[in-house]
Amino acid sequence: MGKAILFSAPSGCGKTTIIGELMQYFDCFDFSISATSRKPRGEERDGVDYHFLSHDEFMRRVEAGDFLEWEEVYQGTCYGTLKSEVKRIWDSGRVIVFDVDVNGGRNIKRYFGDDALSIFVMPPSIEVLEQRLRSRGTDSEEAIVKRLARSAEELKQAPLFDRTIVNDDLQRAVAETRKVIEDFLHV
Ligand code: ADP
Ligand code: 5GP
Repeated sequence: MGKAILFSAPSGCGKTTIIGELMQYFDCFDFSISATSRKPRGEERDGVDYHFLSHDEFMRRVEAGDFLEWEEVYQGTCYGTLKSEVKRIWDSGRVIVFDVDVNGGRNIKRYFGDDALSIFVMPPSIEVLEQRLRSRGTDSEEAIVKRLARSAEELKQAPLFDRTIVNDDLQRAVAETRKVIEDFLHV
């Protein structure tokens, strides 16, 4: 088994932003491209940010046993980690980076055990989280309300992760995350 780094947090906490910075720094990283039944947002591209599937196709692949884990993260919207992604990255000898919801994070950590480092990205406050979701400018008001409604419960689960990083100042948070990962990977 190779190593994995997984990031979980409520939507809008900065996982995508932090992962983007880290991918430029760690040559050994490869991002596990999840499947989702939601539509692309902003500049997102199929096969790069996500594998965008219809709801029916997503469910067909659930039935086929293609997922290591999957969740209906928001009502009617599913996300899942494809077994084929994990195989693809490990076959290349790289470290897998996951961006998954809190339940998915716990399941993946259980599966990989000590081979995975689980990181919870915490917003400085709920108010800042709401501001960031709004300023991202990619979600409808309905989607923002759904995301915020779920965030309070998710934030309570932070202690179940190996490390918590508060994403206050981005460069500070990235530097702290880099250090935590270097310790884990012994690099
Ligand atoms: P997630 O992937 O967790 O849903 P994003 O990475 O999309 O979150 O971040 C949500 C929004 O907050 C984006 O517009 C991003 O540019 C912004 N953002 C992320 N981290 C910070 C930070 N430390 N300070 C200010 N804005 C941030
Ligand atoms: P978004 O729609 O903002 O890209 O993602 C919404 C939530 O779904 C985030 O918390 C994100 O981490 C989570 N997510 C993305 N991919 C997966 C996955 O493969 N499995 C699980 N369980 N959650 C995922």
